[in-house]
Amino acid sequence: MDGFGIERVIREKTSIESGVKSFAPCTCLGFTFTMFEIMVEKHFSAAHHLLNYNGQCENPHGHNFVVKVWVKGETLDKANVLFDYKILKGHLNEIFEDLDHTDLNEFSGFAGESPSSEFIAKYIYHRLKQNVPEVTKTCVYETPTACAFYYE
Ligand SMILES: [Zn+2]
Repeated sequence: MDGFGIERVIREKTSIESGVKSFAPCTCLGFTFTMFEIMVEKHFSAAHHLLNYNGQCENPHGHNFVVKVWVKGETLDKANVLFDYKILKGHLNEIFEDLDHTDLNEFSGFAGESPSSEFIAKYIYHRLKQNVPEVTKTCVYETPTACAFYYE
């Protein structure tokens, strides 16, 4: 390598013992990035109103909140799957059991916080992280054209 061209190396290492495939990360001009990422989307319906806010959103109203969550990783299992969509959706369903068809301002998990889409995204991220450490980002849509992301 002359150091000026783009070096892109993709190597596959397979561990016979574990059956887990490990793909060496791509390297471009010294930057390394992760190779696999999945996303699932689900929705729940709930009422809320914003606290400490002047405007229409201080009045009780409802949304069909669309939630997207992302999981990232460098290794695949024997089926060449990063993380099972069905399991990921199952963990989201557990969280939604506390949120769906409720008044979010009454939810004890929010402890009197203003339940904005940003705050909901943060809450879902941290709850999901307990079961899915590989989660990297959450997103909550209040409307089809407005959403809040949360990641660390
Ligand atoms: Zn709202």
